[in-house]
Amino acid sequence: MPARLCVMSFDFECVSDTKWVNPNPGSFDRKVFGQNKPSADPAAMRVRDQKQASLTDAHYISHNCELLRRLRWCIENGPTFWPAHQHVHKAPGDDRSFAFGVPPWHRDGSVNSLGIPDQRCVEPPMPGFELPVDYDSKAGFNCKKCQQWVPIQPRPYENGIEPEDWWWCLTCRKNKPKLTAKQKQILEESKTLKDIRMWTKP
Ligand SMILES: [Zn+2]
Repeated sequence: MPARLCVMSFDFECVSDTKWVNPNPGSFDRKVFGQNKPSADPAAMRVRDQKQASLTDAHYISHNCELLRRLRWCIENGPTFWPAHQHVHKAPGDDRSFAFGVPPWHRDGSVNSLGIPDQRCVEPPMPGFELPVDYDSKAGFNCKKCQQWVPIQPRPYENGIEPEDWWWCLTCRKNKPKLTAKQKQILEESKTLKDIRMWTKP
């Protein structure tokens, strides 16, 4: 018996340890949107993600201009193309101007995930939903390794001996070289050593 997992209306069957298949593709879209929306092929989506990493300002500007040109075309071509945002896929234009070289919609006007570039900023919360944040831009400290400013409220280490990286920035912490077993052993041994000079002092 294959293991079975039900997430909302998706049914996934575990065929092997790592392979999951959806035996009823499109059931979610049919229930939620009333139609089967073809989703992008995962491999194609991966290629899109790689392209995303190399998008520049110019790509975004060109993408947005193409989008606006087509909306403009809809507005100017009369009521059959209004509201423009629902008919924009019918407007002519050069698909190469879009960030990924394909329009962000399919022929029928449905969303094409392969043609939509990532948003470039995090959307602010809606008016009235902001959290009152007590933000002090002066709070922080310099990383003891690379001297970068770390905008985090400084607080002393409270559980005994301060770790070496306590006052480091996140980048330095992440790139901290791992000790080999031998180095760890030497470090442990060095803790038990006593400075013999204290015995010779008068
Ligand atoms: Zn640092």
